[in-house]
Amino acid sequence: MIFTPALLDQCISCGFCLPACPTYALTADEASSPRGRINLMRAVQDGTLPLVDPTVMEQSSFCLGCRACEVVCPAGVRYGELLEQWRDAAWRGRRRPLIARAVMLAARRSFAIRLLGRLRGAPPRRRDWAAARRRTRDAASSPAVGEARDSVILSTAASETAPTETTVSKITAATAATRDATGSAPSGAGQGQSGSHPDSLLLGCFERLLFPQVSRDALRLCPSLQAPADQGCCGALHAHNGDLAAGRAMARRLGERLPGRIVTTSGGCAAHLAAVLGRERVIEISEYLTARSQELETVLRSDRSITVTLQDSCHLRNGLGVWREPRALLERVARYVELPNAAGCCGSAGTYSLLRPKDSARILAPKLDALEAAGVDVVIAVNPGCLRQLQQGLRARRSRVRAMHLVEFLATVLPSAATRGQEQR
Ligand code: SF4
Ligand code: SF4
Repeated sequence: MIFTPALLDQCISCGFCLPACPTYALTADEASSPRGRINLMRAVQDGTLPLVDPTVMEQSSFCLGCRACEVVCPAGVRYGELLEQWRDAAWRGRRRPLIARAVMLAARRSFAIRLLGRLRGAPPRRRDWAAARRRTRDAASSPAVGEARDSVILSTAASETAPTETTVSKITAATAATRDATGSAPSGAGQGQSGSHPDSLLLGCFERLLFPQVSRDALRLCPSLQAPADQGCCGALHAHNGDLAAGRAMARRLGERLPGRIVTTSGGCAAHLAAVLGRERVIEISEYLTARSQELETVLRSDRSITVTLQDSCHLRNGLGVWREPRALLERVARYVELPNAAGCCGSAGTYSLLRPKDSARILAPKLDALEAAGVDVVIAVNPGCLRQLQQGLRARRSRVRAMHLVEFLATVLPSAATRGQEQR
């Protein structure tokens, strides 16, 4: 039996999910809708259709796995679990797309990821932390760092003019300057502990390679987090690409390696880890920062000359119900604009943009149109895959809109140690 019968039986075929489904919106084809796919699963389960039927295989791949259908379903169908079971059976051996196999293999090479991540500037090994913290304290009190940051914060706050690309570039440059000088966070941005184990930051396998600055900025905002470098992949990639057993085993191994709460900067990893380890073991970074909002209040500074918007992470929003927290943080520090369909998938969807680049681009295009029409300066992502997708799409259009991760953006509005010192007096 491929599917858990109780999960399949839950669907009452009401069709409420159809308007929420991005692939149905593209095709208006019932087979590309959640209800249509569940009917295909039922046909496979009762033997009416073979698992390798071309329509069945095509729909198992065309689905984004965004779970937008789950949140509108009145019957509480757990579509994400059904899709995992579907691919676990259908994407076996050679039937699994070659690119998915390659990416999954790479994610398992934790030594190579660690090494490449360090070359790209991922956070240092645990035993280096004490020295890094000392360097941070020394560097944060350096007048050069204070001047670089203060000049940006003060000049943008004083500006009456509309935000320009230069404004964003200046901020990005100043952040890089400060990052280089300090390498870590000012103290007091966030501290937390669960039971006898400290909270740990999940470095993420591909985040380490593609966006190592995200982990560095998360540690600048939350310096009390542990960040052991010898942590592996959470297994979300495997669970979503037809190897459910490996995906779960990897999550459990990571849970043993990081025995306290796991703080993540990736919505996809957060949802997978919560499904395997339990919600209480996982806290996404915007939740973590929101829980420390009083401490944050003393360090984050508002800059209303920057207009930002948020692109939700599907798994974070639809799987874990986290969407208010990143918005509340952004509203505190910038001019926030909500765009229509911010909750809709951007087309990244794990390996989807690699496996189905044309469909991925079709899903992304209206989002990029909306971003440019709204005239925002920065679009914020809370998942590395979404960040990569938005950056690539915007770059291809030579857009003036920039894409940044939430923690990267929040790190731009951390004032210097010198400013904090003056205000505390
Ligand atoms: S998945 Fe939910 S919303 Fe969609 S048809 Fe089935 S019961 Fe209705
Ligand atoms: S997961 Fe997303 S793409 Fe797949 S059926 Fe549900 S809404 Fe449609």
